[in-house]
Amino acid sequence: MEREIYDEDHEAFRDVVKEFLKRFATEEKRKQWEADGEIDRATMLAAGEAGIIGLSVPEEFGGAGMLQDYRFRSIVLEETIGAGQGSLAGAFGIQDDLAVPYIVHMGTQEQKEKWLPGMATGEILGALAMTEPGAGSDLRGIKTTAKKVDGGYLVNGAKTFISSGKTADMVVTFVKTGEGNRPDAFSLLILEDGMEGFDHSKKLEKMGFHGWDTAELSFTDVFVPEANLIGGKEGLGFIQLMMNLPLERLSIGVAAAAAGEAAFAWTRDYVLSREAFGERIADFQNTRFLLADMATTVDVMWTYNDRAMMLYKDKKLTAEEAAKVKFWSTDREAELLDIGVQLHGGYGYITEYPIARAYLDARVHRIYGGTNEIMRDIVSRQIVGKR
Ligand SMILES: Cc1cc2nc3c(=O)[nH]c(=O)nc-3n(C[C@H](O)[C@H](O)[C@H](O)COP(=O)(O)OP(=O)(O)OC[C@H]3O[C@@H](n4cnc5c(N)ncnc54)[C@H](O)[C@@H]3O)c2cc1C
Repeated sequence: MEREIYDEDHEAFRDVVKEFLKRFATEEKRKQWEADGEIDRATMLAAGEAGIIGLSVPEEFGGAGMLQDYRFRSIVLEETIGAGQGSLAGAFGIQDDLAVPYIVHMGTQEQKEKWLPGMATGEILGALAMTEPGAGSDLRGIKTTAKKVDGGYLVNGAKTFISSGKTADMVVTFVKTGEGNRPDAFSLLILEDGMEGFDHSKKLEKMGFHGWDTAELSFTDVFVPEANLIGGKEGLGFIQLMMNLPLERLSIGVAAAAAGEAAFAWTRDYVLSREAFGERIADFQNTRFLLADMATTVDVMWTYNDRAMMLYKDKKLTAEEAAKVKFWSTDREAELLDIGVQLHGGYGYITEYPIARAYLDARVHRIYGGTNEIMRDIVSRQIVGKR
């Protein structure tokens, strides 16, 4: 089904993304990123130069000023994931969807001036650290504390599973600045690479996204200046997280639709070229019916995500609607990738093939950004009230 959300500007931007990927996201590069467990800085700088990242940074700070227009980000996801470069897509996403928005929407003027120009160019890479070894879904159970001292805070604690956590120059970090677990007991502080007592060097081994780092962070009496308190006021951290979560969830829904579409395309091409019993795999009725199912699911995924992107553009995407988009899209993504792997036969299990990598990458889409159970809980609360 033809999508109707894009105009000429978007299609021109798509050409830029394709050109960038052709030059900088080669198979050789992918293998290097996977061997290193991270995307190299030169590639991120090239992405900044090409205008592929920093889309959400306002123009006055050197970005493209597209924070509310997720269609441009969707094009980056569609093309990058479609090129079999899931890790690169993930690294771009952390910068634009998880780090930059906290500074753009909630940062003080000084914070915007300090961080945004470098975030637009890729000279400064960001990450967002909420999850801890003992608290993920239940974020108000975090233990990392920021104790007020003269001129700033002393931070102690640990975070885990932080995407781009090793490569980040700055980490927007969810900390406790008050007692108990009331929403106003939390704040967001910017932790900077090189601060004494801040260790973000430990990478975790993952099932998928092998070319994109995920790290453990530890904080031992890290002094963080007051200037790094997001928004300049204590006690806003929980509300600030809630403000950006619809965007984070939309981004995962769109990534899932992009991966679903890619799964369909890779599978269609494969079954058209592979033969068994003297026929194309595509000629077996089972294959034809599955392809019909896949194509239809992809259409519905985009219809739903396109609608969500337009709601987001008009600042109307609620937390509940974003939660629905996230869990529904990632559940469909898993089904599509599973069919795709199956129709590739043994090759579907070999990570040289993009379908196998995308299958492994996609598993975490149902876990991070809030698990799909938590998403259903958010939606059900609106239907039947809170437990
Ligand atoms: C590769 C990767 C990258 C990540 N990137 C980041 C990042 O950049 N920043 C960050 O802060 N975090 C990140 N995370 C963490 C991720 O968001 C959490 O893992 C996720 O929110 C779940 O938290 P948890 O692991 O503590 O699981 P738990 O909260 O312990 O949940 C365990 C299980 O219990 C279920 N459960 C929990 N509560 C309920 C409930 N009320 N009702 C029903 N079921 C429930 C969950 O759905 C899940 O199935 C990442 C994780 C991974 C694996």
